[in-house]
Amino acid sequence: MDIELIRSLTRISRSLYGDLDRSVAISEDTLTSVSLLRLSEERTLERASKVLIERAERNPPRLLALQHPFYRLAPIERFLLATLHIEKWPYEKICRVLNLQDTKLLQSWAWSTRMKFAFQELETDLVYPRGPAKLGHSCPEYNASSPWTQRLLDDELSKQDRLFLQNHLMACTDCRKSLELTRKLFFKIESLIPVKDAHQETENAAARIFENWKAGESAFRPIKTTFAESVVKFMAIPHIQFGLAAFAVFLFYWIKH
Ligand SMILES: [Zn+2]
Repeated sequence: MDIELIRSLTRISRSLYGDLDRSVAISEDTLTSVSLLRLSEERTLERASKVLIERAERNPPRLLALQHPFYRLAPIERFLLATLHIEKWPYEKICRVLNLQDTKLLQSWAWSTRMKFAFQELETDLVYPRGPAKLGHSCPEYNASSPWTQRLLDDELSKQDRLFLQNHLMACTDCRKSLELTRKLFFKIESLIPVKDAHQETENAAARIFENWKAGESAFRPIKTTFAESVVKFMAIPHIQFGLAAFAVFLFYWIKH
């Protein structure tokens, strides 16, 4: 499995469990069991994320709520914010993990979670991002529970829609203002997801998970181990080392006499 995917899993796990050691232990455990399903790497990450959310929902880490407002959100809401803002997952991928049939539900859920985090938990003094008070004749429709501004910032628009908006925004002050408010709020949310601050810690944790996962994989599927790895492993066995040393001594005397 690619180290980049393990990093992703580690960050997701930290957003769910907060505590480093706990998230590492649970990630390792989850990855080992999900690896047995022999899915593609991407699907392994998705399935492992699903298991991590379910475990966090069943047994939420309560003390965390005191440490940071982010942890006052439900595990599934934290997963949503982490995958949208940190991992930059497309809606489709998040829907697969959450078993959602289409992205419409996800969009309104994402919007309400973002607003909840910003205005309820963080109590930010930013202005609530509303749509234009009155739509002009060429303004895009503004759905207050899943606005186009969110789709644009999440990079979920088709090329055609994006082009239309780019042209429209140049001419329409109201829509531009609405987008600016949303953008400001998104930056604020992103900067306050604690997983982002612990970059080095997460990096080390991912390396640990990766090494253990690799060791587990080669024990399970020795055929996947490279020849060099097998030789190193073989040489590391104590009685093999002893045998080689004895053979060297024998060779030395045999050549000498
Ligand atoms: Zn407009």
